[in-house]
Amino acid sequence: MKAIRITQNGGPDVLRYEDVPTPEPGPGQARVKLEASGVNFIDIYYREGLYPASLPMILGNEGGGVVEAVGPEVSEVRVGDRVAFTNIPGAYAEYVIAPAARLVPVPAGVEMQQAVAVMLQGMTAHYLTHSTFPLHQGDTALVHAAAGGVGLLLVQMAKLLGARVIGTTSTEEKAQLARDAGADDIILYTQEDFADAVKRLTNGRGVDVVYDSVGQTTFDKSLDCLRPRGYMVIFGQSSGPVHPIDVQILNAQGSLFLTRPTLAHYIATRDELMERATAVFTMLLNGKLRARIGATYPLAQAAEAQRALAGRQTTGKVLLLP
Ligand code: NDP
Repeated sequence: MKAIRITQNGGPDVLRYEDVPTPEPGPGQARVKLEASGVNFIDIYYREGLYPASLPMILGNEGGGVVEAVGPEVSEVRVGDRVAFTNIPGAYAEYVIAPAARLVPVPAGVEMQQAVAVMLQGMTAHYLTHSTFPLHQGDTALVHAAAGGVGLLLVQMAKLLGARVIGTTSTEEKAQLARDAGADDIILYTQEDFADAVKRLTNGRGVDVVYDSVGQTTFDKSLDCLRPRGYMVIFGQSSGPVHPIDVQILNAQGSLFLTRPTLAHYIATRDELMERATAVFTMLLNGKLRARIGATYPLAQAAEAQRALAGRQTTGKVLLLP
């Protein structure tokens, strides 16, 4: 089969489109013939070596397709099922081997590209708004990179929960996408001090929660945006890792809460994985959630797709098509 492998860490040039043996499923495993694979920052972190892994490795950790073969002791899926997944390595390929218990059946009525678009980023938007800091009617949330993959989904879910959403984007074009997703106010944080703008928009009160995926360039000012006892949810680092912090700052800035969550811990059991995936699929099916596919690339062009994502060129979801 064809796959995108790396044998060393580095820039996009280390990605190789290669022939590798098609893998066979072992006990508890299924082989999925992929129809689409998600492109995510985590793939870039593995490529760069920020997240350690043994090499060579096939990149990618999100996708969807049809179960083509199952090993012994598999009860969760059958050959022919349409399934999607996240947090399973080796998805930049024509086939992937997955633990059957981590595969989610895709309901009839949900297109495969839509399903893949919500596995990592949609379930992330769901846990952030429903579990990490559950939003309620009247809450105000600041969502950075509001036209991004997680961003557009987060804005929509926050609005469904009745929150007011202030978003940030780098360009007016992205701002319009975030407004279309329901954002009440957009700050062009490349042109304006977003902490000043948040104070103005909240009459000096500050927001109840900041969902920050940008990291290095936004973290400190995000703390300035919070009301006393507000929640700083730093869940990503698209601009680079956040510097180490002195916890005393949480006291000085108003008894703030700080968490650095990750999806794996919010879909750790099959029950929670299925509950969260079902909740997101249901939003798609009843038309309350739209997953914007911002760009698709042939599998062979994975390097270009990663360059675009890291280079701030994308909106919504980026997919690879084998
Ligand atoms: P996005 O689609 O949001 O892409 C990143 C966006 O961040 C850009 O489009 C850009 O939007 C903004 N940005 C700001 N500064 C920079 C910069 N210097 N370089 C690149 N982008 C920048 O990506 P995702 O939604 O896929 O992921 C965002 C982050 O969230 C990543 O760090 C990812 O690893 C993390 N994440 C964490 C999860 C978790 O569970 N903890 C799960 C999913 C994602 P603009 O141009 O508007 O500024």
